[in-house]
Amino acid sequence: MFAATFVVAGAATACSSIRQPVKGNAKVRAAALGARRAVASRGEIRALASERHTSSRASTSRLGTRRASPVTPRALDAAQPFDFEAKQRQQVEKKRSLKIGIVGFGNFGQFLAKRFIKNGHDVIATSRSDYGSIAASLNVGYYRDPDDFCEMHPDVVIFCTSILSTEATINAFPMQRLRRNTLVADVLSVKQFPKQLFLQRMPDNFDILCLHPMFGPDSGKGSWKDLPLVYDKVRVGEEKSRRERVERLLRVFEDEGCRMVEMSCEEHDIQAASSQFITHTVGRMLGTMELTETTINTKGYESLLSLVNNTSNDSFDLYYGLFMYNKNATAELSRLELAFSQVKAQLFDRLHTLIRDDIFDEAAQPAGARGGGGAPSSAEAEERTFKDRLIDQVNVGGSLGGSTDEKGGDKSEREEGAASR
Ligand code: NAP
Repeated sequence: MFAATFVVAGAATACSSIRQPVKGNAKVRAAALGARRAVASRGEIRALASERHTSSRASTSRLGTRRASPVTPRALDAAQPFDFEAKQRQQVEKKRSLKIGIVGFGNFGQFLAKRFIKNGHDVIATSRSDYGSIAASLNVGYYRDPDDFCEMHPDVVIFCTSILSTEATINAFPMQRLRRNTLVADVLSVKQFPKQLFLQRMPDNFDILCLHPMFGPDSGKGSWKDLPLVYDKVRVGEEKSRRERVERLLRVFEDEGCRMVEMSCEEHDIQAASSQFITHTVGRMLGTMELTETTINTKGYESLLSLVNNTSNDSFDLYYGLFMYNKNATAELSRLELAFSQVKAQLFDRLHTLIRDDIFDEAAQPAGARGGGGAPSSAEAEERTFKDRLIDQVNVGGSLGGSTDEKGGDKSEREEGAASR
């Protein structure tokens, strides 16, 4: 460290001496050599010495016979292709790391921070709670105070707050301390709501990108290969640097193998209500049932257990947010409830029909036939009758559900109705 300082200082002195008016060529040569020495490595110094030895002869020799210099040139004054600089800048820009600021350093914020760091970006974070030591262990700069966080001027600010708290967090966020053209993004599991919030509350010169990684710390624990990332470039300025900044952020997901899905926030919410919200609902229902491993797990049952596993660690706030802040969720919940009722009705319809038929058959039989006299009156006979009817119904109907009272027409109408919903 000290040696390096010394060399640089030496170089500075030598360079300043070059700039001073010097009398005579010998002095100029000596100063130039001194300057080059100051920046040269040991090997290069040896080469310089030999160069010095031959330089007097070279100066008197004919011009045009160029000697190969053993010194590696450090700067070129020669003309470069016209687009050389632009291309170099492009390459540097491509690789340049982003300073990514995460607001809300909970479960998901930390999960994302790890991948951003792995992909060579700098990460800073702020959150309501104190995550100082966790952040330090992840190599993330942590600022409890959002003002301090904003004054670090991150290129991108990503809101990883709970759906329920996002509006209040944005309202209290000191946006004015950020750089004028900051890119703001969010990863909320609902999309129309943050899009509207951003458009209403963010300054006009901020870029806006809505993201939804459709996986979490459990489902995305290992590889992100083929896991979907939904994104909507809600507002991105025309400048090339702004568009590139968006691409650089998206490239993290792309490089991790995500399936990149560009989709409007509105379309996302329609599709997510019938996929994600239903998945979480069923996962929570099964979780409430406390399913456990059995010694005869089928593949299907394994999938159910893994569904419970993937959803049970998510906070209830997250689940409630999926319901409350997606206007399509209520209709999906009703559809789920209706579907469950229909399946249950199919089961009970059949059972009720059999019992009812049994009751009426019994009532229609003459008293003697119901156990009096010498007729077969045992419970065994009644049971056989019931079983026989059951078998008959399976053979005739061929499928579950439907009452013998209602016959096929009504049943198929019901099924058609269910399919069209
Ligand atoms: P979450 O419970 O939805 O959110 C936790 C985060 O919200 C924490 O950073 C927490 O800050 C912050 N927060 C909660 N209440 C707050 C309040 N009143 N004021 C300020 N901050 C508050 O759990 P999460 O799993 O970490 O999800 C974060 C976001 O990522 C959500 O919007 C979620 O929809 C989205 N997301 C999650 C997943 C997933 O699988 N988990 C997947 C995709 C997207 P403190 O910890 O400092 O209190």
